[in-house]
Amino acid sequence: MTSVVPAPSADAPARSSAELIRAEEPVLAHTYHPLPVVIARAEGAWVEDVEGRRYLDMLAGYSALNFGHRHPALVEAAHRQLDRLTLTSRAFHNDRLAGFAEGLAALTGLDMVLPMNTGAEAVESAVKVARKWAYEVKGVPADRATIVVAENNFHGRTTTIVGFSTDPLARDGFGPFTPGFRIVPYNDLAALEAAVDETTAAVLIEPIQGEAGVLVPDDGYLRGVRELTRRAGCLFVADEIQSGLGRTGHTLAVEHEGVVPDLVLLGKALGGGIVPVSAVVGRRDVLEVLRPGEHGSTFGGNPLAAAVGSAVVELLATGEFQRRAAELGVVLREGLAALVGKGVVGYRARGLWAGVDVDPVIGSGREIGERLLAEGVLAKDTHGSTIRLAPPLTVTGEELRDALGALGKVLAEQA
Ligand SMILES: *Cc1c(COP(=O)(O)O)cnc(C)c1O
Repeated sequence: MTSVVPAPSADAPARSSAELIRAEEPVLAHTYHPLPVVIARAEGAWVEDVEGRRYLDMLAGYSALNFGHRHPALVEAAHRQLDRLTLTSRAFHNDRLAGFAEGLAALTGLDMVLPMNTGAEAVESAVKVARKWAYEVKGVPADRATIVVAENNFHGRTTTIVGFSTDPLARDGFGPFTPGFRIVPYNDLAALEAAVDETTAAVLIEPIQGEAGVLVPDDGYLRGVRELTRRAGCLFVADEIQSGLGRTGHTLAVEHEGVVPDLVLLGKALGGGIVPVSAVVGRRDVLEVLRPGEHGSTFGGNPLAAAVGSAVVELLATGEFQRRAAELGVVLREGLAALVGKGVVGYRARGLWAGVDVDPVIGSGREIGERLLAEGVLAKDTHGSTIRLAPPLTVTGEELRDALGALGKVLAEQA
């Protein structure tokens, strides 16, 4: 049978941004509402659209691009691995996985690594580990384990995870949900204490709530969670999928309070912006509750992912990116402080990561994002009138000041 689909011709005219956006509508599920820019190329902190217009990337793939687009060391690691071995499945060993796990354990100061692919899978994996640990080690009666999570959390999009979301958009219409989760206000140790009991397997929180608007908890909260979970004999699971790997000026955001969780969830930047790579990293005596056959992933720990992940670990082991995030974080905070009262009503920032609340009179976060786009800056709203700023950690001080200048201009024009 001959195909009725015409073969794409090499000399067919390339489609414009507007044509490509229109072409998506009938064939692509409407799960996103992207800003109207069609990116065709990128390098470092800069992207270029189909028409050759350049934009400074102040979103960095929700922190999946902490090292910028196509960091040479990461691209080289990927190319080298593509030429040698890409996939084995875990039915066999591959020669890249041991080094990746050793490097990631050393980087985080933790014992053991469970490699997965996406962030949501790391969260799901941690839920399974925590439950199994509760039954086998803590002695919680079968099927009674609970996990305490925070209001306004974002941990991913699977049915179990959206079941303990408090965002109606994420949750409504997707039930019935997995039982066994308790939701408490974030940054409230008393509420957490009241929710934890003898059935509690784990407390699962983001050290900084990213999607909620880069909510940084009070000093002492993470230490309090650590002490409380230790006292209660349950696990502290830190979702560092967005906050981790240099973003806040440390390898992990929990380091700001000198805290070591039992399990740390990593994703996003772990794949260097090239491939999806996630991991649960934690205590050996906890991760050892999983035995062969009880959990797995066809792609988890594949040689390409391990090669890129190892290169990411090597970049972070230099400390350069953490240092840049801390130093440029000062520039970011100073720039935002100068905009308070000039369209900015408040902001929260740590390292190269900020949630900026814009006066709703000026516009929604979406509208500000569109106006920034027209100024050559890519940024995305989180909720309402909050803009998230999270440039690649390779951004220069000058580029950062330019982006803040564009934000100031956009706010001044509308004020
Ligand atoms: C993005 C994110 C996830 C989910 O990661 P995916 O790779 O999109 O599944 C989980 N937790 C946090 C904190 C995130 O920011």
